[in-house]
Amino acid sequence: MKTTEPNPGLQLDARGRLCHLLTLDGLPRELLIDILDEAEAHDKVLRGQDKKQGTLSGRTIVNLFFEPSTRTRTTFELAAKRLSADVLNLQVSASSTSKGETLFDTLKTLEAMQADMFVVRHEASGAAHFFAEHAAPGVAILNAGDGRHAHPTQGLLDLFTIRRYKGGGVGGPSNDCFKKLTVAIVGDVLHSRVARSDIHGLRILGTKEIRVVAPPTLVPAGIEAMGVKVFHELESGLDGADVVILLRLQKERMMGAFLPSLAEFHRDFGLTRARLAKLKPEAIVMHPGPINRGVEIEGDVAYGPRSLILNQVSHGIAVRMAVMSMILGAPAPAEARSPRSRR
Ligand code: ASP
Repeated sequence: MKTTEPNPGLQLDARGRLCHLLTLDGLPRELLIDILDEAEAHDKVLRGQDKKQGTLSGRTIVNLFFEPSTRTRTTFELAAKRLSADVLNLQVSASSTSKGETLFDTLKTLEAMQADMFVVRHEASGAAHFFAEHAAPGVAILNAGDGRHAHPTQGLLDLFTIRRYKGGGVGGPSNDCFKKLTVAIVGDVLHSRVARSDIHGLRILGTKEIRVVAPPTLVPAGIEAMGVKVFHELESGLDGADVVILLRLQKERMMGAFLPSLAEFHRDFGLTRARLAKLKPEAIVMHPGPINRGVEIEGDVAYGPRSLILNQVSHGIAVRMAVMSMILGAPAPAEARSPRSRR
């Protein structure tokens, strides 16, 4: 499949407003903060009894997933339904692409059904950009993960979670918290679009130190240019960390032998209870899911008191509602808004 080179400029209209979300790379700090603040307002509505808003009533959102997904697809679907949009879930195996229809044909066919927004996941890096470049005016594309390249809503929900737990909580979180934080991203960085989106977002918000911690075979060459420090040993990589983001070993993207064995990876890089006990007492543990229990994380740690993994899932709904409503021009209700976060 032919895809186009990432072009972050495609995401903003002439007035600097978000019209597609393809990558966090190159987005202005103020815009990221606006999305996080908007997500706080949606989260507030979601914690009430009536979780539904009528803001996207009459709009049509298509979830177009060419790769499997549990959390991302269902939270995008729920987010759209909470905003009262009509949602179409396109099963890739049942779609015409398996009959040879190109991405372009698929896009144009669904556009003809008056879809307003496509949420796209694809194994090829650049697929979401391809859609954005070819979409009709007014049709928005949200990248739900393209190859190893980007997963911007996961990056945003990770930033939201960090700000919520390290920045003073609901109702006036501080964006300055990032300037004091050391964040360690541990595991299969090489294949991870989540790592790339997290790094971009964390840098934009001025994070004090971003580390990637992995065996040399799982670190992309030249990643230091993204402003991160590389550690090949877990103890030193976790030393002094405030936030630990674990990554899944992406066996489906590993063509060759990257590791001697899963047991060896767990021994050297797995987050166990013993290692958790050595972290700063207030350090938090995150993982985008799905987890490989007993590989990058012990089950007890994943569901232990320091873990925010399930909070990340909930935050994903609020963040996706924020992005959808901002792009389609319908903000959260005024009564759900807290004063803007301290900038
Ligand atoms: N769910 C995330 C993604 O789609 C992380 C993972 O699959 O490991 O990239």
